[in-house]
Amino acid sequence: MSYAGVGAIVRGSEDKLMAITDIRYWTNKSDEITSVLIPYVTRVSMALGIDKELRMPPKAQENGRGEIEGSYLPAVLFPVYAKCQKCGLLHNNPWGKQDKQLTENVLCEVCESQLEQTTWCSVSNKGHLSEVPWHYICHLKSDKECKSDFESNYLKLTTDSNGKRIVRCHRCQSSNYYEKSQLKVINGIQPWIYTKAPKLEDDDIVEILEVNSPGVYLPERVNALVIPPESRISKTSIVDRLFNNSKLCREIESIKIPLRKKAKLKEAAREYRCSVEEIKKSLKAIKDGYPYFDENLTIGDLIEDEYEAFLEEFENVADDEDFVTVHKTKELYALKDENIGSDLKAIIMMIGNHIVATRLERDTSI
Ligand SMILES: [Zn+2]
Ligand SMILES: [Zn+2]
Repeated sequence: MSYAGVGAIVRGSEDKLMAITDIRYWTNKSDEITSVLIPYVTRVSMALGIDKELRMPPKAQENGRGEIEGSYLPAVLFPVYAKCQKCGLLHNNPWGKQDKQLTENVLCEVCESQLEQTTWCSVSNKGHLSEVPWHYICHLKSDKECKSDFESNYLKLTTDSNGKRIVRCHRCQSSNYYEKSQLKVINGIQPWIYTKAPKLEDDDIVEILEVNSPGVYLPERVNALVIPPESRISKTSIVDRLFNNSKLCREIESIKIPLRKKAKLKEAAREYRCSVEEIKKSLKAIKDGYPYFDENLTIGDLIEDEYEAFLEEFENVADDEDFVTVHKTKELYALKDENIGSDLKAIIMMIGNHIVATRLERDTSI
């Protein structure tokens, strides 16, 4: 998902800024998980300390009629504030209040000009992301009594006489700068989590930034390759196909009546075009821990193993393997005997191995 991971702010198909919600919401309308399982990533999962399944993000497809089919990455409108293009008046979620679709125009309640979504957010050093507390900032330096009111629109985004951005209250005339302001409070945990505000520590910092500022979204990333032996597992064997059909395995396992179990096994054998014996054998293998990876790995081991995997030459590479290399060191060294000049020869002598990775990606369509 790279730039569009959980918590990232992206531009949705309605041309509005949206925040990608977390994996609890990656389901279809019936609350079922629809994303595809990534099999044989036990090494990577263990090294990352993940004891759950790894899955691909949901991917919808457009059908011939231009409609979207299947589930997609869920997102919520963020920021929900919009400002009038003409007078700068801030409106809190005008799409919701005016009962409009996100694709429809929403108008200013005062001057009837078009509203546009604001592009400011508050972020904390702990990873919280929330709306800008506009009323709070506006009155931060003011001693006037002015109560916040989410129902009415009384704050304006404008500039002062020096051209600096300010938020101004139309009730009490208080105003304040907001760009890059540092606060000690944040209103929420994430835009899609509607619980009370998180508690901050004394040295925590909350900043008001534009949504596309580099500091707003900094996901943690770890790169890892699927290497042998996992990359070499045949995706066409019965045991493997059963392994990737955990629903069927659970179904068979849960049947207690012998006759019914026998019938289900027969049905599975018919489906997989093999003998009942083979199904039984495969089920036992899965129960015994197929595909048998139970080492205790760390990130350090992963990188070392990946390096080793590059150095090893494999024979009889199958079409569905996920890690395929071609060793070219001999060809590289053979160049030394040709008339290529001493500079190039010196460079060749510095290279220990020349290995081409022709395949590193997992083809999830398999
Ligand atoms: Zn207006
Ligand atoms: Zn005020």
